[in-house]
Amino acid sequence: MEPLTQRSRKVVNKKMTFMERIYLPAILHGMWITFSHFFKKKSTVSYPDVLRPIAPVYRGQHVLKRDEEGKERCTACGLCAVACPAEAITMVAAEAKPEEAHLYREEKYAATYEINMLRCIFCGLCEEACPKEAIFLTDRLVDAEYNRGSFIYGKDKLVEPTDERVDVSKRQVWTYQNQ
Ligand code: SF4
Ligand code: SF4
Repeated sequence: MEPLTQRSRKVVNKKMTFMERIYLPAILHGMWITFSHFFKKKSTVSYPDVLRPIAPVYRGQHVLKRDEEGKERCTACGLCAVACPAEAITMVAAEAKPEEAHLYREEKYAATYEINMLRCIFCGLCEEACPKEAIFLTDRLVDAEYNRGSFIYGKDKLVEPTDERVDVSKRQVWTYQNQ
């Protein structure tokens, strides 16, 4: 039968030499390779104490933005979910009560809004689809977790805190200038 690649090697049943049988040269060779790496520049970093520099266009964890008055911008129109190729976004819309007018920018709001970070491919299409400038990807990294359920990010993790605004302008400006 024709081989599929040129990489296959024929097995030769030749007798091992004495040196090959004691494995010493092979062990020393392996140790030499290990020791030689001690003096090379490390290619790993001690995350999270040390962060790698990231590109200006890096797309990380999403944020659901608030407007200048601190109201949630998202109106649960669902366009981001429709645009998402990974079907990572789900939401439930609700109507805001008159006494909740200070919380939401429009009458309709997202009572629940979830992104499955294991499905998300950080393509940014949700950001492009949003007509309300409500969702943006940021330079924040999605944290490592021990179970799958923790990767479903709800509003508690996505909505911008009122006292700690998330600046999304850097990537927006860079992308605009380099288009
Ligand atoms: S970044 Fe892409 S994959 Fe992730 S939620 Fe948005 S549209 Fe979906
Ligand atoms: S984030 Fe934007 S596109 Fe998605 S539901 Fe809210 S307003 Fe609509």
